[in-house]
Amino acid sequence: MFIGIGIIDFRKQFKTEEDCLKYLVDIKWGNGYKCIKCGHNEYYKGRQWFYRRCRLCMYDESVTAGTLFHKCKLGLLRAFEMAFRICVRKKGMSTCELGKELGCQQKSAWLFKAKLQEAMKSSEQHQLQGKVEIDEFMVGGFEQQAPGRTHGEKSLVVLAVERVIDKKGNENLGRAYARVIDDASAESLKTIFEKHIAKEAEAKTDGWRGYIPLKKEWNINQELSNKGERFKLLHTHVMNIKGWLRGIHHKCSSKRLQNYLNEYHFRFNRRGFMDTILHNLIGKSMNMQPIPYTKLKVCELNT
Ligand SMILES: [Zn+2]
Repeated sequence: MFIGIGIIDFRKQFKTEEDCLKYLVDIKWGNGYKCIKCGHNEYYKGRQWFYRRCRLCMYDESVTAGTLFHKCKLGLLRAFEMAFRICVRKKGMSTCELGKELGCQQKSAWLFKAKLQEAMKSSEQHQLQGKVEIDEFMVGGFEQQAPGRTHGEKSLVVLAVERVIDKKGNENLGRAYARVIDDASAESLKTIFEKHIAKEAEAKTDGWRGYIPLKKEWNINQELSNKGERFKLLHTHVMNIKGWLRGIHHKCSSKRLQNYLNEYHFRFNRRGFMDTILHNLIGKSMNMQPIPYTKLKVCELNT
């Protein structure tokens, strides 16, 4: 298992493609072999050392088969380094920078980063607990708001954050999740509650009526006045997300915004465990089915 946040540690452990393959073999088969075709658990040697051939169906499986690293055009060493750089830097890295630093085209960097963002999606297994604050905000588009309740080129996002007491006894943010929503109706708002907020959490929102129907299932307390003051930590988080999208990525199409929010919170929710974050991301990538490039909305090349 790789532990570290420095590029020197990274380069010490991963010098060659073979080092990366060994790492993947350990993750995939370290606790035993199971054929991806038929589920059988006995094998022969495969055509190369990082292959295993099933004794039952004879399928010769590469360590990268059935994972996000399958047919990775960048090569594994570069793919690992890209994952490392995106993970350990507080603000990640744009694919322009990644392309330059890793000596590949921006487009190739973009394509692999888009795959990594899929692996950075929340498992939805660890719901927010305790004191949770929820609010919506707008991202992108033009400064001038469209009239009425429509949001024009902008995207609407709902954010949920945990409020915790940190080691120094101060109120602070715990974990957080954000979702792009079509509108602020109860039906749209419900998704973040279902996926990310525990039923027993003490949820707090502003007075928006869209939250009212959700009170049947969740413990929601609505506070009407001056949300800027009361939701200070949450709004700092909103400013940080917006600043990140502007600063690193300049712009982000609404179609891909959810992926960027996933990336942001993958890092944010692991900020206390940065030394194992690369191992975590590689592990998640090994559990993901390969994604064909055509599925990544390639036409929308963000930075
Ligand atoms: Zn088999």
